[in-house]
Amino acid sequence: MEQSRHNIIGKLKDSDEYFIVNPLSREADIITVEKAKEFETGRFTNSEELVEKGYLVKPEEEKRRYNREYLDFLDNRDEDEIQIFYVPTYFCNFACTYCYQEGYEHTPEVKHTDVIDAFFTYVEKEFAGRRKYITVFGGEPLLPGTAAKTNVSYLIEEATKRKLQLAFVTNGHTLAEYVPILKKGLIREIQVTLDGPAEVHDRRRMLKGGQGTFSQIVEGIDAALAEHMPINLRAVMDKQNMPYLGELADFAIEKGWTDSPLFKTQLGRNYELHVCQADQQKLYDRVNMYEDVYELVKRQPSFLQFHRPAFSISKFLFENGEMPSPLFDSCPGCKTEWAFDFSGRIYSCTATVGKEGESLGTFYPTVTKKEEIIEQWEERDVTTIEACRGCPLQLACGGGCAAVAKNATGKIGSPDCRPVKDLMGMGLSLYFNQQ
Ligand code: SF4
Ligand code: SF4
Repeated sequence: MEQSRHNIIGKLKDSDEYFIVNPLSREADIITVEKAKEFETGRFTNSEELVEKGYLVKPEEEKRRYNREYLDFLDNRDEDEIQIFYVPTYFCNFACTYCYQEGYEHTPEVKHTDVIDAFFTYVEKEFAGRRKYITVFGGEPLLPGTAAKTNVSYLIEEATKRKLQLAFVTNGHTLAEYVPILKKGLIREIQVTLDGPAEVHDRRRMLKGGQGTFSQIVEGIDAALAEHMPINLRAVMDKQNMPYLGELADFAIEKGWTDSPLFKTQLGRNYELHVCQADQQKLYDRVNMYEDVYELVKRQPSFLQFHRPAFSISKFLFENGEMPSPLFDSCPGCKTEWAFDFSGRIYSCTATVGKEGESLGTFYPTVTKKEEIIEQWEERDVTTIEACRGCPLQLACGGGCAAVAKNATGKIGSPDCRPVKDLMGMGLSLYFNQQ
């Protein structure tokens, strides 16, 4: 018997205890320091239970299990729902301090129903028989002018004809006035961003003229919830607004939003994506952002009513009482995610859409595809990224984000390492040792 290649052993934060997680055998335990030492030395006092749990294995048996799980993963992915992004504009009425699309070309709004027709024709043909939904993204898709409203109304009409659900990613400023238009569609979710309480938000996410936007967004969220449209509230975090995240949580709790089953939240990390952030100092890496979230939860446990951070597999394990399936791939780009824009171009996902040199083809005026590059995207997972193959974290990490990896190395098939062990140390401690 040997130690599994997929054992992840680490220390629980703020505790003397350790954890062991095996994403292939789907077992997880909190263990004593003595037990952790046994794994370090490879000498075990009682190995029976460790064999049962797949922490000690026969390598050839483990390899077979790995292959079986991988085939299941591929089969399941073929059944997964596809998220199709559509960008009706790259223009935005906000001038957020950290916008990664700042460097993108901005053209004036034009009615483009012919492009939308071509988009639906492409979607119906290419994704025939697949479960799918459309997410409208930008720029800002819900702009105030007539052309924008015509395009969005037409998108909704055509999607609804085909019984396709729609999600919107919006800055939320015009949400209240758009609610009557959105009501005509099958609205799955509206993602809106608030970066903190009013004052903090208004300093980061202002209109191009500099005016604050908090109160209009709040009005929009209320109006959408009143019409039973699910809201996904996102906060984009860096070191400047983290001290105020607890206040935003209090605000949402007081508003009664967190009592609604239609309300959920996500934390985004402000990081350098395409254009250089002027002040790198304020940016978090993945570990130190979650360290601060961890400390916030300890200080203010009610924060969990607002947002329950994933901390790798920790939240899943806590909420479901079992391990998730092994994560052979964490990047849906060109597999279960695609992005299309009003200029007729096709991209892998939201991280590449509109970016110079990243187009994978066109759906308008004619259909063209860069098959070779698409294949590189489709093939990318922990079995094809060389660095991931021998990595014990692979089935919890999934190889990270292809766009981030490519930005760093120039190669789609390269790793974007996730600090899985640190995140588990925090999350398992928080959810299992301190609740
Ligand atoms: S490249 Fe990154 S942003 Fe795009 S689908 Fe993959 S993980 Fe998501
Ligand atoms: S991306 Fe890095 S941490 Fe993730 S599986 Fe690959 S090598 Fe491991």
